Amino acid sequence: MTVKTKVQPTARLIEVFSAIQGEGLNVGTRQLFIRFAFCDLRCDFCDSAHTWNAPATCRIERWPGLRDFEIHSNPVPLPILIQWVERQNLPCLHDSISLTGGEPLLHAAFLQEFLPQVRSLTNLPIYLESGGHRPEQLAVILPYLDSVGMDLKLPSVSGETLWQEHTKFLQLCFNSDLELFVKIIISENTDPAELQRCAAIVAQVSPHIPVFLQPVTPLPASQQLTKTPVLAPTPEKVLMWQALMKQLLAQVRVIPQTHKMLNQL
Ligand code: SF4
Repeated sequence: MTVKTKVQPTARLIEVFSAIQGEGLNVGTRQLFIRFAFCDLRCDFCDSAHTWNAPATCRIERWPGLRDFEIHSNPVPLPILIQWVERQNLPCLHDSISLTGGEPLLHAAFLQEFLPQVRSLTNLPIYLESGGHRPEQLAVILPYLDSVGMDLKLPSVSGETLWQEHTKFLQLCFNSDLELFVKIIISENTDPAELQRCAAIVAQVSPHIPVFLQPVTPLPASQQLTKTPVLAPTPEKVLMWQALMKQLLAQVRVIPQTHKMLNQL
């Protein structure tokens, strides 16, 4: 008789660290970040292009917030990631665990096993940061999430067109009992008709879902992904676009990436 041994789930990671959340509804809170490798999108403004492919190694803070990283090889077995979270999880320090990337939903099979364990170990709420375009993978881990920040990608700013995927994703989140908000990156190239379409998509699900307009943080010249740089919009345009979306939505807030102002990761 052959005895079947269960294959240990593994994930390809970029880093695990403790920091202040700089975007969206959880801005200013302390989170334990798990940044996953791989992304299937190629947004023109991406400030995380180093996550698009999996590096041979990942880095993990020894002590939360000290940036005293140690290096480990990829992929990382599930029990090892649990150990790292345990080490970072000092009493009263973190408000939640952030699953970020890259696109964390490309690791849905791993997360399906990891999330119940990390939840019972830490008792911390689990927050997913996602491109908002993979509803099938979202459905797999939805029961283990407490909070979702989903992007709506404007074709005029990101170069990606994902209306149908976004609509399904948003509805799925809303149907679950979790905290939900939408983030839209805006630049000087923003097409207001696309913002109107976003507002209509969100309003159709619920006009009370908070929407965050996030003026793009221009990339340094050495990291630019496009021939012409993606630049932040003028203050006048931002005011106009917020007013436009507020015709359909109850909460439209404008917040830039505050972690960059604080020199956080
Ligand atoms: S979804 Fe995020 S990580 Fe992926 S390309 Fe866009 S900005 Fe970069």
